Amino acid sequence: MTQAINTQTKAAAFQALKCKECGQEYELQASHVCELCFGPLEVIYDYNALRHSVTRETIQAGPHSMWRYQKFLPVHSENPIDVGTGMTPLVRSQRLARRLGLNKLYIKNDAVNMPTLSFKDRVVSVALTRARELGFTTVSCASTGNLANSTAAIAAHAGLDCCVFIPADLEAGKILGSLIYSPTLMAVKGNYDQVNRLCSEVANTHGWGFVNINLRPYYSEGSKTLGFEVAEQLGWQLPDHIIAPLASGSLFTKIYKGFNEFIEVGLVEGKQVKFSGAQAEGCSPIAQAYKEGRDFIKPVKPNTIAKSIAIGNPADGIYAVEIAKKTGGSIESVTDAEIIEGIKLLAETEGIFTETAGGTTIAVLKKLIEAGKIDPEETTVVYITGNGLKTQEAVHGYIGEPLTIEARLDSFEQALERSRTLERLEWQQVLV
Ligand SMILES: *Cc1c(COP(=O)(O)O)cnc(C)c1O
Repeated sequence: MTQAINTQTKAAAFQALKCKECGQEYELQASHVCELCFGPLEVIYDYNALRHSVTRETIQAGPHSMWRYQKFLPVHSENPIDVGTGMTPLVRSQRLARRLGLNKLYIKNDAVNMPTLSFKDRVVSVALTRARELGFTTVSCASTGNLANSTAAIAAHAGLDCCVFIPADLEAGKILGSLIYSPTLMAVKGNYDQVNRLCSEVANTHGWGFVNINLRPYYSEGSKTLGFEVAEQLGWQLPDHIIAPLASGSLFTKIYKGFNEFIEVGLVEGKQVKFSGAQAEGCSPIAQAYKEGRDFIKPVKPNTIAKSIAIGNPADGIYAVEIAKKTGGSIESVTDAEIIEGIKLLAETEGIFTETAGGTTIAVLKKLIEAGKIDPEETTVVYITGNGLKTQEAVHGYIGEPLTIEARLDSFEQALERSRTLERLEWQQVLV
């Protein structure tokens, strides 16, 4: 038995936790802050070993899920928690691309990720697998909604006890989307940053595995798979430009790390990918720091319909600013009205219904194109990270209504005629 564990440990390439600021290394335990300088801890790997043990073929022979990249993830288990997460479609956009004037636009569609329809299933699959390895029996998180959904669902699948924390004013779909898995759900009267502060205290006193607090170094690595998959799905090539939403900034920085790891071990050719980030104006501390050329974040109080990305004091914000700057990308914010337009635009042109975070990303894409910051010939990938069925409130009153009719042909014909007349009138209004 000891033998078996030793071989497994040897086979895994992750080596230690390392402070991003001062470089101090730590054992692979459940901790996320440097004891010397309070910098964030990150998992480091033996890339030499990976270069010799991973090829495009070994990856392709793996499962049709994010676990085909297990060698790049910080878990030992031979049986990681695999509920079919990852390998979501990379859609070549036709109609949206034409509408916006781009020639090579792709949509990475995590609105259909499994099991809970957001990219958070990736980070939680890694965090709970690691939590189990470290001996935790209760898992938890501070969430803006999607993370609570993922943690509750995957904990249910893995048979772990679960207690999740959310701001009390979340969308109905996000609350129901946690409750259905029967976790203990704490709805805190306050915003996400207050929820997060409370959870840090609970993590210290209860010995639970908080996926985005004491397990954060492991959790965040799961987002690299959004970089890996895009590279593989583009035929083992990196795009020229990516646009992703920013909450804490973690996802953004880990897509960057994922691309660089694939270059480092020789799976793709090196290339400078531009990284652009999207925030809602009502919670845009990272966009503001970028615009003002600051190297620190000024926390804000969130006020936007894009609740899933409403983090006023983003832990990885400053690293996101650095990446956007050094890659020649940009960080932009858009209004709630533009976010709603973004949701509708993606739905009408591509048949993809995204939540407010996706509306933010599409609206920023449009803004960057209008500002001449995206070359039409660049291979551009836009990351859609969540599903619109969970944030229906956002579009209430901004979409059409059904035509209610009698179960008779003449009633149908009349309604059809009325709707066509209405459409003509709308067009005339557009034309004058
Ligand atoms: C959490 C979340 C994000 C961003 O997450 P960070 O890694 O904290 O930046 C983006 N989109 C959706 C839908 C999310 O739920």
